[in-house]
Amino acid sequence: MVSIPVQCPHCQSTEVIKAGKQANGAQRYQCQNEQCGRRIFLLQYQDRGRALEVRRQVVDMAINGSGIRDTARVLRISPTTVIAVLKKSRRASCRQPHVAASSSFTRRPHPGRTRRRAR
Ligand SMILES: [Zn+2]
Repeated sequence: MVSIPVQCPHCQSTEVIKAGKQANGAQRYQCQNEQCGRRIFLLQYQDRGRALEVRRQVVDMAINGSGIRDTARVLRISPTTVIAVLKKSRRASCRQPHVAASSSFTRRPHPGRTRRRAR
């Protein structure tokens, strides 16, 4: 048996503990780093739109002027996922100063609204 150390995709810390399972049976992990912005993560995402590198690409494309449908087509995720990632990325950009918060998608005119996906 070979054991592979689990690393947090956000802060690269190996201080990681198991944190139960997803509904589909995938193992969840929790980062033990107090400063880490992302506590719960999965090693392998079933859903492409949930993977960290795809989320970063969504934000990068938005900053470079790609529309929601452009981004969805190029990254092979649904437009709904693109919108969800962009909405959530505003929260992430508060912790990650290198992500520019200048994108028009990340601006929310209604601060009092809940963060549930509008359908
Ligand atoms: Zn972490």
